[in-house]
Amino acid sequence: MKKVAIIEDRNYDVIVIGGGPGGSTTATLVAEKGHRVLLLERDKSPQFKIGESLMPATYWTFERLGIIEKLKASHFPQKYSVQFYSSSGKASAPFYFYRNDPHESSVTWQVLRSEFDQMLLENAQEKGAEVQRGVSVHEVLFDGERAVGVRAKLEDGKIAELSAKVVVDSTGQSALISRKLKINKIEPKLKKASIYTHFEGGIRDEGIDEGATLILHTENKDSWFWYIPLPYDRVSVGVVGDLRYLLQNRRKSDGTLVHQAIFDEELAKCPPLQPRLAGAKQLFPVKVTKDFSYRANCIAGDGWVLVGDAFGFLDPVYSSGLFLALKSGEMAADAINEALEKEDFSAAQLGCFGPDFVAGMEAIRKLVYAFYTKDFSFARFLKRFPECQQGIVDILSGNVYRTDVTGIFGPMAEMCHLPEDMGL
Ligand SMILES: Cc1cc2nc3c(=O)[nH]c(=O)nc-3n(C[C@H](O)[C@H](O)[C@H](O)COP(=O)(O)OP(=O)(O)OC[C@H]3O[C@@H](n4cnc5c(N)ncnc54)[C@H](O)[C@@H]3O)c2cc1C
Repeated sequence: MKKVAIIEDRNYDVIVIGGGPGGSTTATLVAEKGHRVLLLERDKSPQFKIGESLMPATYWTFERLGIIEKLKASHFPQKYSVQFYSSSGKASAPFYFYRNDPHESSVTWQVLRSEFDQMLLENAQEKGAEVQRGVSVHEVLFDGERAVGVRAKLEDGKIAELSAKVVVDSTGQSALISRKLKINKIEPKLKKASIYTHFEGGIRDEGIDEGATLILHTENKDSWFWYIPLPYDRVSVGVVGDLRYLLQNRRKSDGTLVHQAIFDEELAKCPPLQPRLAGAKQLFPVKVTKDFSYRANCIAGDGWVLVGDAFGFLDPVYSSGLFLALKSGEMAADAINEALEKEDFSAAQLGCFGPDFVAGMEAIRKLVYAFYTKDFSFARFLKRFPECQQGIVDILSGNVYRTDVTGIFGPMAEMCHLPEDMGL
């Protein structure tokens, strides 16, 4: 039997599990209202994480968090645009976000996650949250259907039970609550995998294009690469493809699967990327991740709320993961603050932001499906429906909670299959 340390004076208003961007956002915005918030992060120190490119609309959450000035003073490259390369190697004109909305919120950043996550975590602490690193939550404790706290391994190795009025699951893809309750649904048409690493010395464009995200299809459109400029003369480079294509059908005759070799083979099918990396040095062995697209079928229950990837993740293509983590973190915080005021910790109160949040996520999801339609091209779509340019840039910017972007989906459905056409 493990020794269980029940520590007195450990009754919190809110326990946030996971100190990624989603969890830090909720912790900050609840703690600054004067509530007792405990944030538990498993990693003892900042770690490498994938997910480095922000969408411009993160600005509004950063503004509420009070960290715009810190981001401006940081060494994170500024991102003005995203540019797509077709399978023939032809580059689209860059989508400059500020052309759509000439405000400083239209320029965003490419971040090194270890530093960015730490910045948000420190901010949560400064705004009054108690942050404990090196604490791994093993289980969310329920009294009947209602979450009442967590069982966690503390830094000193002791197991503690900590109680709270609200438990926030922001554990990223660990998705502690939704996996336990088996309420996760995999996106059946987005069964993807990714192989990625960092390079030093990759060639960047000049001027305001220096920090641009590039999305490059490989020759037969079976996969695509991201190219994201980072600080320290690094670029993040990753390839994404169907799981079956990228990993399952690539075993050598002796059964081995060499991820570096697959990465190199895909790179060989992406001519516009090769000169950018010709003189660059790969900084660490490739990493692999798969099956990352899913969503829980509800965002809250009695006493618990899901934030960020712990609720769901779409796909890396438009860099929407951090935006949705920050946005859901913000919306969850508002629902929790209201719950604490009203002493109402029901699923209905804690999940009141769900329908609005999911509606914005759905708009981005539709654009993801368009991207993966083999014979669909944004260039052809915009040539036929030029009036949809604004809607596309709005979605690429993350302006899905400030503007109605749904007008583009009627025309788009004429050129590709959107999820609802497939009953998804
Ligand atoms: C291949 C790929 C590429 C991507 N590229 C981009 C991109 O360019 N731009 C973008 O915006 N998004 C991208 N994403 C998505 C992005 O990484 C995530 O959406 C984002 O990190 C979600 O933030 P989060 O706070 O929800 O979770 P995370 O950032 O995953 O944070 C969760 C935290 O919880 C902690 N934790 C987990 N379990 C426990 C536990 N039991 N106890 C205590 N702590 C725990 C973890 O250590 C972690 O710090 C990408 C994703 C993939 C798969």
